[in-house]
Amino acid sequence: MRNINHWIDGRTWDGEPDRVGPVFNPATGEQAAQVALAGTREVDAAVSTARKAFRDWRNVPLTRRQNIMFAYRELITRHRLDLARLLTAEHGKTIDDALGEVQRGLEVVEFACNIAHLVKGSFSEQVSRSVDTYTVRQPLGVVVGITPFNFPAMVPMWMFPIALACGNTFVLKPSEKDPSPSLMNAELLAEAGLPDGVFNVVHGDKEAVDALIGHPDVAAVSFVGSTPIARYIYEQGTRNGKRVQALGGAKNHMIVLPDADMDLAADAAVSAGYGSAGERCMAISVVVTVGDAADRLLPKMRERVSEVVVAPGDADGAQMGPLVTGQHRDRVVSYIDAGESEGATLVEDGRGLEVEGHEDGYFLGPTLFDDVTPDMSIYRDEIFGPVLSVVRTGAYQEAIDLVNANPYGNGTAVFTNDGGAARKFQAEIEVGMVGINVPIPVPLAFYSFGGWKDSIFGAHSIYGPDGVSFYTRPKVVISRWPDPIHRGVDLGFPQHG
Ligand code: NAD
Repeated sequence: MRNINHWIDGRTWDGEPDRVGPVFNPATGEQAAQVALAGTREVDAAVSTARKAFRDWRNVPLTRRQNIMFAYRELITRHRLDLARLLTAEHGKTIDDALGEVQRGLEVVEFACNIAHLVKGSFSEQVSRSVDTYTVRQPLGVVVGITPFNFPAMVPMWMFPIALACGNTFVLKPSEKDPSPSLMNAELLAEAGLPDGVFNVVHGDKEAVDALIGHPDVAAVSFVGSTPIARYIYEQGTRNGKRVQALGGAKNHMIVLPDADMDLAADAAVSAGYGSAGERCMAISVVVTVGDAADRLLPKMRERVSEVVVAPGDADGAQMGPLVTGQHRDRVVSYIDAGESEGATLVEDGRGLEVEGHEDGYFLGPTLFDDVTPDMSIYRDEIFGPVLSVVRTGAYQEAIDLVNANPYGNGTAVFTNDGGAARKFQAEIEVGMVGINVPIPVPLAFYSFGGWKDSIFGAHSIYGPDGVSFYTRPKVVISRWPDPIHRGVDLGFPQHG
């Protein structure tokens, strides 16, 4: 059995873990490895190493920090297929999709290669006689990333390249379900020249997370995961005095107006609904049709759904792999059961799908419901699997009101050929990331990523300019040179320059 251990101070931790957890191969259902689960002891070791490393790292010249990011970028590019294979082995997604994940992470690394531009301060000369005022942005110290299973490479890469380039040191707590990509990143960062202790990985579950968010030497916490845990991290972290950004779950709606190009809309709904087996925070999970759009859209969607190739992620031609664990697959199946019993019309049923030679893998076929209503659990809850619901509405305003009434606000899209309708959507929709004829509106690295409402807690979105702002704090300096003027004691506010 392969053992997966922590990465502390530039090397694999050599202690004996008190607890371990299983890591499965989702395509076969077999346990592939066991991962160490950290407690206070390992968290203390990682944080104190990162704290020590911060003293030097914050003083490493900015250009040198950028150069290390450049070197890391080259290494990731060279090893992108190895990283993708590692992702597929533990997560289950297709190699092609995993390569896309690596690419999206790489774009944040590239952004961090030019971070100097964004950490520049400002300068005002002669704000008073011989007095100048200027600002600098400084790193926070030890910052922590806590990340979900569904993007084991990309989501950590949303965080640490920017945090490190800004001069912080980092402790990553990746998902215990697919921990290996984080260790590969740690090794590549070390090879790129990152000093020991600047980037550390502790594996674990709630115990490790609680030790991190309560640790007095942790300055900030970035979290990405489900909404209940995001809320918990935000509340606990801020109570402990940390700066916190916590991104939560989603229920992303795609509105299709009767004038839309129905082939385009069907391609988009099926790709965005079932890509990565629906295990994406930006996956479309509800298609909201207006007027007679459903009657023309649904047959086209069914045609495409029936052709989706479900197979192990590394198989030739695979379009959709297994779900991450057996437990998660069973949970998704229980939602399909509930949808049926609550009265939705099941038009494509993914239950019972078997992949030859992989009968114990966690596979589930694409599933499509029509006539879904907002009171049903398949509408209300984030299922995080290959289950798409169609909700029919009579009018555009009704569709917009439905989206706005939903507690989540991560991503949304409208499909239409009417510019005025698209403009109304952009103006009125209460969601943080909006697609117009684009089903998954994920901004590139020079913008920031973040939803609204229950999809985010805290004032900062992630990566891009918001990332720089999150991982630095401004300091304003007021200085008088050359000769301080002796004015004598004056207890009043200055009235003249
Ligand atoms: P999760 O919330 O179960 O786990 C996320 C992290 O929190 C993991 O590292 C996990 O070990 C830790 N954790 C789990 N339970 C905990 C607890 N009780 N106390 C403290 N820490 C705990 O999420 P997941 O199942 O790994 O990932 C899927 C979720 O992530 C979905 O809800 C998805 O929408 C969301 N997600 C959101 C975004 C976004 O950008 N908004 C991106 C990716 C995933």
